[in-house]
Amino acid sequence: AKESGRSGFHFYRSEMQQFATERLKMEKALHHALERDELYLVYQPQVNGQGELIGFESLVRWLSPELGPISPAEFIPIAEETGLIAPLGEWVLMEACRQLRTWQQVVGLPASFKSLAVNISPFQFSREDFVEQIQYVIDSTGVDAAQLDLEITEGMLVENIKAVAAKMYALQHRGIRFSIDDFGTGYSSLRYLQHLPLDQLKIDQSFIRDITEDPNSYEIINTIISMAKHMKLSVIAEGVETNFEENILSSIGCHRFQGFYFSKPLDKHTATQCLIEKKRF
Ligand code: C2E
Ligand code: CA
Ligand code: CA
Ligand code: CA
Repeated sequence: AKESGRSGFHFYRSEMQQFATERLKMEKALHHALERDELYLVYQPQVNGQGELIGFESLVRWLSPELGPISPAEFIPIAEETGLIAPLGEWVLMEACRQLRTWQQVVGLPASFKSLAVNISPFQFSREDFVEQIQYVIDSTGVDAAQLDLEITEGMLVENIKAVAAKMYALQHRGIRFSIDDFGTGYSSLRYLQHLPLDQLKIDQSFIRDITEDPNSYEIINTIISMAKHMKLSVIAEGVETNFEENILSSIGCHRFQGFYFSKPLDKHTATQCLIEKKRF
């Protein structure tokens, strides 16, 4: 029994070592990714009940020459643990605002278009100079900030509610909107929401996934939508993959959608083409 325990341990350790080596490789490569121009943004359409474009969510991509394409679900947590999220997050903001400014000034946006969403990591948001950072990006790109939507998560809001609210109000004052990402998966205490300048709740895709089979998910979405109405917030459903899901959602009062049923995330050229053609989804 002792022998097998030992070999079990050895097996475990070598697996762990391999995992650690892979991670270290990725960490090193991520260090260079920014300087070497390996990151880029893609833009997933957000649409209304008529299929008109109401916005895009910008999503970061990393194509490493050594490691191949790596999902943000994998490298964002590493960036957060190593502090690399600071320059990475700044780059994402700058790139998204440059693109938005081009769409605003050069291409032209359809009347239905409301905002470009950018994901903000808790680490970024909690920095003391977050407001200044955003202001710097707005000033240096010349973007109209009224079409900028920052996606934050529930967890960020409960940390230090006074500091959080102060930052959000300062940014709202500059025209920026806030959406709560992955809504329903985090803190269930909703009282704090009332005291913050929020614009929209994004219903997490895990609820949408279960909507047809699980009566609980249906009820949760129903509750989120009526609560949002009561608080005068918009709601958008993310991860919508079927027409069936769209129909259920609109029957309970959700008329903003994002998901593969409408469109996958698009590269910037394709996204721009959609704007020029006033494409419907
Ligand atoms: P998220 O913010 O919840 O983004 C939505 C994710 O769902 C995206 O994955 C998107 O491609 C995917 N998705 C969209 N529609 C569908 C659908 O119909 N079905 C399914 N199954 N998936 C769908 P992605 O691009 O891999 O991003 C994963 C996560 O990485 C994001 O989740 C976000 O938390 C993080 N992330 C991505 N870009 C950034 C960024 O620029 N900054 C930060 N801080 N985090 C980012
Ligand atoms: Ca998001
Ligand atoms: Ca989300
Ligand atoms: Ca998510």
